[in-house]
Amino acid sequence: MQDCLFCKIAAGEIPSKKVYEDDLCYAFFDIDPQAPTHFLVIPKQHIASVSAVTAENQSVVGHIFGVIAKLSQELGMESYRVVSNIGEQAGQSVFHLHFHVLSGRDMTWPPG
Ligand code: 5GP
Ligand code: ZN
Repeated sequence: MQDCLFCKIAAGEIPSKKVYEDDLCYAFFDIDPQAPTHFLVIPKQHIASVSAVTAENQSVVGHIFGVIAKLSQELGMESYRVVSNIGEQAGQSVFHLHFHVLSGRDMTWPPG
């Protein structure tokens, strides 16, 4: 999608620190990490948020969770948090579906 930051990152048009890539998704370190390990996993296809997941595009979400499980093992992450913010009130600032993966520090509940 034109003028979408994460579409441009997934396409390599804007540089990022890659963690993983395949045909369907792209994982990269967050530019403003909120934990010792903080990366994002995004579908290459533009989906605005969890709210825009449909019967037609939902398979990529399962694929992304499989990738997160694989990466967590490879990176030796025994405990971690997966977060997706939906809408401005919940803290979404980039309107391309992404899953934050955070690890390496104590975390509180409920989130702020
Ligand atoms: P949200 O606020 O939408 O849940 O998450 C967006 C995330 O994208 C934020 O954690 C922010 O730090 C990250 N981010 C924003 N712009 C860039 C960028 O240009 N490169 C990278 N690697 N991360 C970004
Ligand atoms: Zn996009």
